[in-house]
Parts: sequence; C-alpha cells; structure tokens
Amino acid sequence: MSSSPCVSHHHQVRLRLLRAGGRLPAPAAASFAPPALRGRRRVARAAMSAEAPLGVAPAAAAEGARTPAQQALLAEMVEEAAVWCAVNGLVVGDRANQRSGTVPGVGLVHAPFSLLPARFPASFWKQACELAPIFNELVDRVSLDGEFLQAALSRTKQVDEFTARLLEIHEKMMAINKKEDIRLGLHRSDYMLDSETNSLLQIELNTISSSFPGLGSLVSELHRTLLNQYGKVLGLDPKRIPQNWAATQFAEALGKAWAEYNNDSAVVLMVVQPEERNMYDQYWLVNHLKASYGVATIRKTLAQVEAEGQVLTDGTLVIDGRTVAVVYFRAGYAPTDYPSEAEWRARLLMEQSSAVKCPSISYHLVGTKKIQQELAKPNVLERFLDNKEDIAKLRKSFAGLWSLDNEEIVKSAIEKPDLFVLKPQREGGGNNIYGQDLRDTLIKLQKEQGESLAAYILMQRIFPKASLTPLVRGGDWFEDLTISELGIYGAYLRNKDKVILNNQSGYLMRTKVSSSNEGGVAAGFAVLDSVLLTDE
Ligand code: ADP
Ligand code: MG
Repeated sequence: MSSSPCVSHHHQVRLRLLRAGGRLPAPAAASFAPPALRGRRRVARAAMSAEAPLGVAPAAAAEGARTPAQQALLAEMVEEAAVWCAVNGLVVGDRANQRSGTVPGVGLVHAPFSLLPARFPASFWKQACELAPIFNELVDRVSLDGEFLQAALSRTKQVDEFTARLLEIHEKMMAINKKEDIRLGLHRSDYMLDSETNSLLQIELNTISSSFPGLGSLVSELHRTLLNQYGKVLGLDPKRIPQNWAATQFAEALGKAWAEYNNDSAVVLMVVQPEERNMYDQYWLVNHLKASYGVATIRKTLAQVEAEGQVLTDGTLVIDGRTVAVVYFRAGYAPTDYPSEAEWRARLLMEQSSAVKCPSISYHLVGTKKIQQELAKPNVLERFLDNKEDIAKLRKSFAGLWSLDNEEIVKSAIEKPDLFVLKPQREGGGNNIYGQDLRDTLIKLQKEQGESLAAYILMQRIFPKASLTPLVRGGDWFEDLTISELGIYGAYLRNKDKVILNNQSGYLMRTKVSSSNEGGVAAGFAVLDSVLLTDE
C-alpha cells in the first residue's frame, strides 16, 4: 500500500480534478465547464479540507460557477429525470411519510440519483466483470468447508454476539451433516478505483441481501434516456453506458432455482424487514419473477416466518399454508433484524428445511469481513481454487487486509489513521471507523488487552479520484465533489455437480460526496448512478 501521507494525496486529487474537469467533459461541453478555474479550485479546497463538515452539503460555490443558461439546462434535465423516475418506477419510500415503509404505493419519492453517469475506464470495467464468476465459484467452494469457516471466525465469536449466533446455526447444520444440493448465490462485489496505485480494489463481497438490482438497472436506462436527448450538447455518448440487466438476471436465477426445486405450486419467500423504504427495488424482482417465470412471491418478516412457518418431516418449508421453494433474504444481515429469540428461531427453521436458501448460512458467513481478510492471506485461495490465473485475478483485486493480531499494522494505523479503515463484523453501512475515531478506538482496544480486537479487521484505505457531479435528491439538485463505488452483481446456481448459472449479472454504481466516509444509498450517504465507459 501507499506510504505517501494524506496531505499529498489530497493535493494530488485536487490537481487531477482540476485537470480532469469533473464529470462534465471539456471539449463538446465547453459551454458547461465552469468559467473560472479559480471557482472550481475554491470548491475543491472546501470539500477536501480536513475541516469540511461531513455529509452532503450543497456546494454553493460550484453552483455559483455556472452561468444562468447552464443552470437552466441542468434544471430542465433534473425535471425530465424526476418525471422519468416517477413513470418508470425508480422510486423509494419517502422518509417524510410515516407509512411509506409499510404500505406499498404510499409516500413515494424518486430514488436519489446522479444526473450524469460516472466515467469509468473500460479496462477496469472489464476486469471487474471478469471477476464475478470467479468470486461466485470461490463463495461456493469456501461454503463447503465448514471447518474453515468455524475456525476462521472462532475468535470473532468470542466478542461478537451476532456472529456467534450465526455460527451457532452453522454448527447445528454441520452436526446433522446438512447438505444443500441446490445452491443459489446472488452476490455483489464492490470495488473502488484507487488513484494512488491506479488499480481496481475490492471493498467487500456481499453474499446476503445484495441490494439495488432492481433500481440499479433503471438508473442505467435513465442515463441513456437523458443522453439520447442531451448527449450531443454534453459531449457524452449514450452508447458508452453498458446495458444493465441486473433485475431480470437476478429474477432469472431465482426462477431457475425455483424450477430446480421442482414443485409447481411452491412459492418464493422473500424475507423482509418490517419497515422497508427500499421495497420497490424488491418488487421489481417480484414482478419479473411473476411475468417471466409465473412464480409467485410471498413477503414475510422473520417474526412472521416464526409465527406462520413449519418444517414438515420430509423437510418441506411451509409458511401460512404455502410450500416454499426458495427463501430469498432481504433481511437478516444485521443484529437489529433479530430483536428477539423469535427471529433467530425463524432463521434456524428455514435453514433446517429443504428449501433453497439465498443465502444459506454458509454462504452468509463467507461474506463476512473476517472471511474476506482470511481469504486475502497468503496461500488461502489456493485451498479453494485450482485455476492459477483465476487466483491471480482475485488476488490482484484485494486491498491490504489485516487482523488486529498484527501489532505492527495496528501501530501504523495509530500513527496514520487516514490510511486505514477499521471494520467491525457488520453489514449495511454506517459501521466503519475512520480517522481520529479509528486511532482512539485502536488505543482503547489495546488497553483492554482482551479478545476485543478480534471483533474488527483493518483495511487499507482506498482513495478514488474525485469529480464534480450534479446529484439529485428529493427533487433538488446540487453539485459537489464525489467518488464512486462500482458493484458487480453475480448470480450462481448449481444442483449437485451441475452448475446451472455462473454469471456476471449487471452492475450498480453508487456515488457519494467525497467528504463522506460511508457509502450506503438506503442509509442516506450515496446516490444511485451508472457507468460511462472511457478509453483511458
Ligand atoms: P458495509 O457492509 O457496511 O456496506 P463496506 O465494507 O461496504 O461495509 O463499507 C461501507 C462503505 O465504506 C463503502 O461503501 C465505502 O464507501 C466505504 N469503505 C469501505 N472500505 C473502504 C476502504 N478500504 N477505503 C475507502 N472507503 C471504504
Ligand atoms: Mg458495502
């Protein structure tokens, strides 16, 4: 990893930003470039300085840098885009409406989005797409090695109650020698482009509740529609936005898993949170499943599964009188999803059944941050994969990852906290620790002397190049310096020895204000985006 101090990094980013000129291209869009370099520099400094407040703050300076004509054109595009979202279902529940997370069709607002697609070099794009089937296979192989999962997580278990509960279910399945013949993985591997090393580095691999296959594919369509109309004046070619079939491809995987289960009257069970403002992302899959495969989906919370569910003696999972072929989890990845023992009983019940689980408890555990760190150790990938080229490709995408046993790394992280991210065993955004908090936490954990260090991993901090981007949220737009994270979906389905699907299945670009550390869209940190492939 880079040893250059952060100050120089920020300096470099600023210089590059000034050169690159942000998301709006220079030549054909000359009318669009902020008139004075001075204005842009002011924005960059404000947004990048250590004192800049975190979170999404409208960059008044940037807006001020545009002529009234430019502002008017952007405003026109924003309105077109917002209308497109409404008539095409690129929507989420509005936080301002109390019922929007529980009653479909009530209190909808367009999903937060970037007005223009994010530039992304075609070579890195290709690299990320090629990794998808390899990661799919890796997850499957690792999931079969129960001893490895238990051993790698044994110390985490001592200090992390949530991981302990998941491992307990996994252990029970190992004890009865439970085998999953039909295995379905709907993954999303997230990457950022590190400007220090000019490389594509993995942030994490999601094996449970990979979100936004539904809305993510719509954003690509939104951007293509906008560029079909405004591309000429902006100098942006709509054909450079890759097709994104994430929603139909995930639905296809669910439909094929359902077919493998081979019971025409069975349904797909979508396990959901009691309140879900991102329900339309999920309903897009429900729709495709119905339209293309004639498969019905029922939505239940973990508590409802506990109250209405049973497993018959032959292993059949029955909920509310309906046989379940596939359990698709869009909940169950966070401790808050299990407020009582009832939810844990539901999770165990489903795991014991013969229904296809997406994910199974093993697949879920493979996606933990601790396992990510273990797989990055020397010679570990070799335990699971045979193909040397595949192994090399995966390894190339790994950032520095360390356990906190490594005293030297802990010492470096205390000295230079800005070069690291401290991660607990959590999913869903908002949990990572950065900067001064990272330093304080490490010092505190060291003093405690116990096993508490085992609850975390350390990761090399990745520094993507920032660019000036118009973002739209709640009908309003503002411009700010942003960085992007590319998620590549992967679908994997097998039945015993037969691999039925192993695909890259679309993508999700998320863009956030560069002064914010976290990246979740649902968590309110980022906006949905798409990709504009470039030749550089
Ligand atoms: P979660 O399971 O909560 O999504 P992630 O590992 O994806 O956890 O981290 C959340 C966000 O934090 C990411 O979307 C990204 O924006 C940021 N992040 C995570 N790891 C790094 C890193 N190594 N360097 C820079 N940013 C990171
Ligand atoms: Mg993430």
